[in-house]
Amino acid sequence: MNSKKWGVHTHCTHTGEINDLQYGGAVSPIFMATSYPYMDVDVKRYPRYFNTPNQEAVGRKIAALEHAEIAMPFASGMAAVSTALFAILSAGDHIVVQNEIYGGTFNLIIEEFNKMGIHYSFTKGLTVSDFEQEIKSNTKLIYIETPSNPLLSITDIKGVANLAKQHQILTAIDNTFASPINQTPIDLGIDIVIHSATKYLGGHSDISAGAVASTAEIMEKVWHKSKNLGGNLSDFMCYLLERSIKTLGVRVERHNKNAQEMAEFLQEQPLITKVFYPGLTSHRDHELATSQMHGFGGMLSFELKDTLDVIKFQQQLKLIKPSMSLAGVESTILLPAKTSHALLSPEQRTDIGVSDNLLRFSVGIEDVKDLQEDILQALVGC
Ligand SMILES: *Cc1c(COP(=O)(O)O)cnc(C)c1O
Repeated sequence: MNSKKWGVHTHCTHTGEINDLQYGGAVSPIFMATSYPYMDVDVKRYPRYFNTPNQEAVGRKIAALEHAEIAMPFASGMAAVSTALFAILSAGDHIVVQNEIYGGTFNLIIEEFNKMGIHYSFTKGLTVSDFEQEIKSNTKLIYIETPSNPLLSITDIKGVANLAKQHQILTAIDNTFASPINQTPIDLGIDIVIHSATKYLGGHSDISAGAVASTAEIMEKVWHKSKNLGGNLSDFMCYLLERSIKTLGVRVERHNKNAQEMAEFLQEQPLITKVFYPGLTSHRDHELATSQMHGFGGMLSFELKDTLDVIKFQQQLKLIKPSMSLAGVESTILLPAKTSHALLSPEQRTDIGVSDNLLRFSVGIEDVKDLQEDILQALVGC
């Protein structure tokens, strides 16, 4: 089922689902088969061809939410990122990459691209002219990620898309932090949208998955590459992801509301020196975020006063869990200096604005007053 006129919550709940013709059950049945007929059929189905019934079902849902013609689910966010990049880039091509991107994507580029003869440049900043400066005659793709991790910086999506179009270059965005509820980049001119569905699309910290969404023409290339790379998602996980996305709209609205309230609360605390959240008028990119996002998301970061013990603060939290991942219904917190940015020196971290007391906070859907009380009690004696 897919009606183009439906609102976003109806798409979340219904689009893509497989009608249970046998029993009339209310949800998509799970088809676990890895073997399908090849004679007298229009489509030869096989899990690594990304065309089993459950793969197609969740793909239809994600495509509707991203306003894309086609979307494909993958076994992880990095399977989605790598397959999309290798589908577009060949030896001799060049890619312009935003300087603030997810660590796994950064590693993929610096560890693998040279070996494959793919050239890359990282931007010096996030303005459109920072991207323009890095364009070369062999540039095929511009890659952005907004809001970024962990400082929630905002890239001008439409500005970068227009720049790329002038140069006949394709654009790709990692839309993980925003989710399609808060940001639909294809409407702003982006060609390829990528997700770690391990985050908001899954939303319950129990699914590893990814997704790529684009036009039929580009997805044909992605599909072709995906058969060779083999990052297909299992049918059971497709089912779980489809089920999770049914509540994506209501979850993200609640994440947005809680994060806004938490950001405003944190900003008032004397022991907290900085708060980064695109929904705050004090955020450097607040206006740009307002112009291109439908909501500001559930991610924020904040800095404890430098005399405080940031490790002890995390240990004293009772409700908010210090944890590696993000975007679950439960609130989690993480110290980039000890995790994603551990390989940089303290000076390098200071240069990019990630101080040793900066905490990244994935605001869950709990009652805000309980989260606020948890922060206040954990600050005592730090
Ligand atoms: C987690 C994440 C990824 C990678 O996804 P995996 O599912 O861990 O492979 C990519 N981009 C962003 C922004 C992420 O947060």
